[in-house]
Order: sequence, then C-alpha cells, then structure tokens
Amino acid sequence: MPHNVNHLDAALTAYPRAALLEGPTPIQKLTRLSQLPELNGCNLYVKRDDLTGLGGGGNKLRKLEFLLGEALAEGADTLVTWGGFQSNHARLTAAVAARQGLACELILTPSAVRTDNDFCHNGNVLLDDLFGAKVHRLARGVTPNAYADELVAKLKDQGKKPFVMPLGGSSPRGSLGYAACAAEILHQADALGLQFDQIIVPNGSAGTHSGLLAGVTLARSATSIVGYSVLADEDQALATTQEKTRQTLHLLNHEATVGVSAINVDGSQRGEAYGAPTEAMLEAVRLLASQEGLLIDPVYGGKAFAGMLAAVRRGDFPAGSNLLFVMTGGLPGLFAYRSAFA
Ligand SMILES: *Cc1c(COP(=O)(O)O)cnc(C)c1O
Repeated sequence: MPHNVNHLDAALTAYPRAALLEGPTPIQKLTRLSQLPELNGCNLYVKRDDLTGLGGGGNKLRKLEFLLGEALAEGADTLVTWGGFQSNHARLTAAVAARQGLACELILTPSAVRTDNDFCHNGNVLLDDLFGAKVHRLARGVTPNAYADELVAKLKDQGKKPFVMPLGGSSPRGSLGYAACAAEILHQADALGLQFDQIIVPNGSAGTHSGLLAGVTLARSATSIVGYSVLADEDQALATTQEKTRQTLHLLNHEATVGVSAINVDGSQRGEAYGAPTEAMLEAVRLLASQEGLLIDPVYGGKAFAGMLAAVRRGDFPAGSNLLFVMTGGLPGLFAYRSAFA
C-alpha cells in the first residue's frame, strides 16, 4: 500500500506553528562511507537537521515551531525550560526567544559525569549567555521541575506570562515537529525515487523518535524507525517513546495505539551514563568528520551513529538497503567535550 502523506500534512495544519526553518533540510548521500567494504553495500544517507538556520541549528527548532506557536497563541511573554548545562534545547529556546523578542529563563542542572571547565563554561552555556537568556544554575540534587514551579509562580507574581516547556521540548505539541519532519522526508524520498528502509535517530527525551513514528504511522509508510537511547535505559526509553507516540497520534486525531513491537529502541550505545563518552561514539564522530567532513555531537548523534555503524557492520541489513540517519545538530557540544577527544 502506498503511503498517504497528504493525510498527515492535513492533520498537522490544526496547530499554530511559527516558521523557524528556512524550508526543507537537505537529504544527502554519504558517498565515501557507503563504499567502505565493511558497510556491506548499504546506502547511507543523512537528513541535515543540523542545517537549520537559527541559533546554531538542531532538531529542537522543529519542536519549537509548534511550541512557540502555542506560546504566542496563549499570549506568553517569557519562555521557560530546563535541561543539562549543555542542553541544546535550552540554547535554541534562548535563540528563539531572542528572535521573537520574548524573555527567556533557563534552569540548568550539572552533569553527574562531566565537571571540567569546557563542559561547565563553553559550548551551549556560552551561547545561552550571548542570546541574553537568564540562566539559573542548579546545585546537584535540586530537581528542575520543582524549581521551575517556584520560578513560574514568581514570574506570575511579577505580572509576567510564562510558557513552560518540558525537558527537550518533548511535549506532544513539540513532538508534532517531528511528525512534520516525517512528512517532509516522505515527500523528499518520493522526489528522489527512493524508499528508506530505516530511519535512525538518537533518543533522549524521545520527542524526535515519537514524532517521526507518529508521522510514518499516520502516513502508512513502511519505513521503520530506530532510536538509540542515550538518556534513559532501554526499557524506560521504550515506555516513554510508546506513550509519547500515542499522545502525538492522539493530537493528530488518530486513536490507534502503536504496539511495542513497532517501537524500536536500542539501549546498547548509551554507555555508563547520559553524556558519558564511549569508545564507539569517539570513533563514529571521527569517522564522519574525517571521511565526509560532517560534524555530529558527542552526546546524541555520535552514539546513534555508532549504533547504526555497528548494525550495518554486523550485517543486519542486506546490500542495497537505504538507511537515513537524522543529523540532529548539537555542534556546540563538541567544544564542551574537548578533553574527551584529546
Ligand atoms: C535533544 C537532542 C536529541 C534527542 O532528541 P529527543 O527528542 O530529546 O529525543 C538528539 N540530538 C541532539 C543534538 C539533541 O540536542
């Protein structure tokens, strides 16, 4: 059965959306990597979601299109969110607020495994400051949700209208950004005369994976999605992804549940913790940089790309398979991980 992407396009128009992307991001073939004998004749492609123009780019801008649409519809004047010191979502929220003329309050939590100077002061945290966000650095052990509740109450007392976004912007509305990306990919694949056998993404707060899965499900595409979990363990990431996919489909007026069997979460690449470097990640980042001149980040893309390489090398896909890796951005994170690459 051919896919029905028009149905998905139509369902997405029900929600306010602020234009933060310049247009579709390119799909490119990794020609040199695809020729390596160890990659068993698979055709590797990348979806360049790192090439989104605002604030250094990255996947969070797709979610922010729908989140900002929702915030503006509510008359909000302040964007509030939280994440780790090196949160790309926090950085892009700050950039979006700057461009829209809104205030921005970021609640940032320290890492359990990275405490060096580059991590604490370079990369994304440097950019948060340049974008003019107010940064609240929490001490270890303080829960950001509780801190956010207090901050929001205080802002309201001051007459402000805060709009709060969860970790990674992965509310159901935010995840719609990746349902929209699924539609974009299916249109591009048609234009290229290609069918992707699998789409590969990192899975952190699960909105990217859930949105894509909701999108291909609604469009009745045969493409499978695999998410390499980098934050939660595999069981937890699977449960979260299933629930967020259900919620996203619900927003799109589709009540069918996606069975666990359709949800492909792989926890093999996370390593000892969120943000902890692994040998496979370091190899994947260097391989893509040195063979293709492309940059992926050490926390998300590097681990997911390592997972895809491992699967292709062990022969999980027949020769001629078309695999699409979503480059989700996060370039500033490389500068926060200088010591890991040294
Ligand atoms: C947040 C992020 C992800 C993961 O997206 P989720 O929707 O949180 O799962 C992947 N890559 C980068 C660079 C990110 O910043």
